[in-house]
Amino acid sequence: MNKKVGIPRALFYYQYYPLWKVFFEELGAEVVLSDNTTKKIMDDGVKLTVDQACLPVKLFHGHVLNIKDKVDYLFIPRLTSVSKNEYICPKFGGLPDMVRNTIKDIPQIIDTEINLRKSDKKALEAVLEIGKFFTQDVRRIKNAYKKALENYYEFRNKVKGGTLPCDILDKKFNVIRKNSKRRLNIALIGHAYNIYDKYSSMNIIDKLKKNDIDIITIDMIDDGIINENAKHLNKQMFWNYGRKAIGGATYLIERGDIDGIICLMAFGCGIDSFVCDLIERKIRKNSKIPFIVLNIDEHSGEAGMNTRLEAFIDMIRWRNRDENNLPAYG
Ligand code: SF4
Repeated sequence: MNKKVGIPRALFYYQYYPLWKVFFEELGAEVVLSDNTTKKIMDDGVKLTVDQACLPVKLFHGHVLNIKDKVDYLFIPRLTSVSKNEYICPKFGGLPDMVRNTIKDIPQIIDTEINLRKSDKKALEAVLEIGKFFTQDVRRIKNAYKKALENYYEFRNKVKGGTLPCDILDKKFNVIRKNSKRRLNIALIGHAYNIYDKYSSMNIIDKLKKNDIDIITIDMIDDGIINENAKHLNKQMFWNYGRKAIGGATYLIERGDIDGIICLMAFGCGIDSFVCDLIERKIRKNSKIPFIVLNIDEHSGEAGMNTRLEAFIDMIRWRNRDENNLPAYG
């Protein structure tokens, strides 16, 4: 019987699921995903974790609880770094331990460390270690990884072509366009697991789409462009996400066709608190693009989010309609 590997639909899922799904399936395993986030998953995560944990980490625990009894293994790699000379948030590195010490009766965790800070070659070492949970055939593991990478690059290319990762993962490509008003281009900046999770983001993507808005996220921007635009920083960013967010925002500010920028921040995220601040300073200094920071937390009342979002969109439309028509003398 095929071994079942559980992948929580949270955190790294939004960026790396296309890779790991193919990898495990090529090794003969069955991949089991947790359900879409619901109030119960959120509430379970909140109950299990300490108050100080950020919202996405709380949610991750809820997703683990959702699948732990349906699988033979839980895939929670110890992600330390996914790019040279950069780190990702240390909470990713601590995830396997947090889960192990918080949730009772869990299956074996595949917690191999993935640390590419010094070299990309470390990826293969990690992959071989993970693959050996299923087979000792090294060639088979390497072939599975090759196919997984092909699928991953296909996913990345679709995203760079303008399709939202959540639409690819949900297999929903057709966006209904009403064409009733001029479409706006709005950049939505935030961690993938915050902006693409419908429940925790309070469905911000669908709300924007329904308002005739085309959404651009930093995942759609080519890495070379991001790196070029992150060069203005006085020193290299410590965090992978920080470089992407600031490099991506700088590019979007200078592109000239962006009507507004939204930063979606998770309550309790230290990285977000200063990355959003740096982006705001850059916008205020170099442009007149309307900007708003929206905070998400475990409270589920949507009224506050809706009001702020509607006001932001209305303000952009009024400004485009009225201020653009003013003659130079006022
Ligand atoms: S980067 Fe922020 S939101 Fe993401 S896991 Fe770390 S603290 Fe949480």
